[in-house]
Amino acid sequence: MRKNIVAGNWKMNTTVSEGVKLATEVNEALNGVDAKCEVIICVPFTHLTSCKAVCGEKLHLGAENCADHTKGAYTGEVSASMVASTGADYVILGHSERRAYYGETVEMLAEKTKLALENNLKVIFCIGEVLEEREAGKQNEVVKAQLESVFSLSAEDFGKIVLAYEPVWAIGTGKTATDEQAEEIHAYIRSLIAEKYGDQVADDTTILYGGSCKPSNAKGLFAKPNVDGGLIGGASLDAESFMGIVTAF
Ligand code: PEP
Repeated sequence: MRKNIVAGNWKMNTTVSEGVKLATEVNEALNGVDAKCEVIICVPFTHLTSCKAVCGEKLHLGAENCADHTKGAYTGEVSASMVASTGADYVILGHSERRAYYGETVEMLAEKTKLALENNLKVIFCIGEVLEEREAGKQNEVVKAQLESVFSLSAEDFGKIVLAYEPVWAIGTGKTATDEQAEEIHAYIRSLIAEKYGDQVADDTTILYGGSCKPSNAKGLFAKPNVDGGLIGGASLDAESFMGIVTAF
């Protein structure tokens, strides 16, 4: 059976002390509820070690990116093994902001995914179309092409991937995909996984929705059979609203 997951993506927000305070608040709130999903916070590299120290058993930790090289002369980069050495167990790869602003390609993301898995990190792999692609009805073809980064994995390795469908037009815009739009494309993504790896793997794959998800719309989205949780940007920066989404299950 696939897992339900709610993961926060803090992006480039909070100082270390602010981040530790937020992680502590989420951890404490989580200890007070019977969450029906796995909860992850994905934080800036600089915050990983100190946030790890305040994450209890119920709160998982992830990074927001890792390098496409193992080590060496790549000034400013952070490798998958460095991320793993902090005690983090997840990494977000392929976020639309990284694709758009840092030129991450299908090939680079395939390499990053391979390195993350070799270092025992689980990958939250993001896919999603921009507004013009949605308006041209090209969303299925876009996500299919983006999945090529992870479709060369063995079925066993693919089992360590969590997919996050994030329509770029809904990220940070306040514009959420409707429950039906999310369900339709999640079902399509699952059908592509079934074609590639078979029904069992498809059924076991967690597919998150991301894009202006908040406590007020999470329940409707999570009630859809192919939506297994959310990747949360803005609303993950406040413990109360993040927990409002966690408890929407
Ligand atoms: C994101 O960046 O992954 C995201 C979903 O952002 P927001 O929730 O702010 O739209």
